Amino acid sequence: AKTASNPCIFLPHLIASLEQVDQTYIMVKPDGVQRGLVGEIISRFEKKGFKLTGLKLFQCSKELAEEHYKDLKGKSFFPKLIDYITSGPVVCMAWEGVGIVASARKLIGATDPLQAEPGTIRGDLAVQTGRNVVHGSDSPENGKREIALWFNEAELCQWNPAQASWLRE
Ligand code: ADP
Repeated sequence: AKTASNPCIFLPHLIASLEQVDQTYIMVKPDGVQRGLVGEIISRFEKKGFKLTGLKLFQCSKELAEEHYKDLKGKSFFPKLIDYITSGPVVCMAWEGVGIVASARKLIGATDPLQAEPGTIRGDLAVQTGRNVVHGSDSPENGKREIALWFNEAELCQWNPAQASWLRE
């Protein structure tokens, strides 16, 4: 019989809880907002089954954009990239889940939308690298760094989605 003293029934839950839950920073860039793609882009992550923990519409400063993209500072396109990201409001999102960083990058597709696979956000919704509608963190470390950069602690919510047990066994 499955009783409280039988550890077997608790083991899968224990294993599941030991799996690494990562965070990623997803941002609808100004072109995505201007083109009315916010709902479509949020939907891709929502339908996949990841958990939204932060969401806001925000127009960022040059300083914040430069800090966000600091690894690209030496690139020839850097000034244009900063102009683009600060040109209008963006939608900032914090998402979490097991394996989310790599999975979100797959959902987003290649940096150049012409190379991005059909079915990906960039593959379906964009045509040029300089207007590629969405950002996603490239590592769990950058996910944490970028969420801390774009959100205050009070803007992030910890909650238990009702569908959790229907998404992961
Ligand atoms: P990703 O956003 O796919 O992680 P990168 O980190 O290489 O790609 O670049 C960050 C962003 O900089 C890209 O999403 C794009 O908006 C811009 N970018 C990258 N390469 C170019 C380029 N050659 N010309 C214009 N913009 C670029």
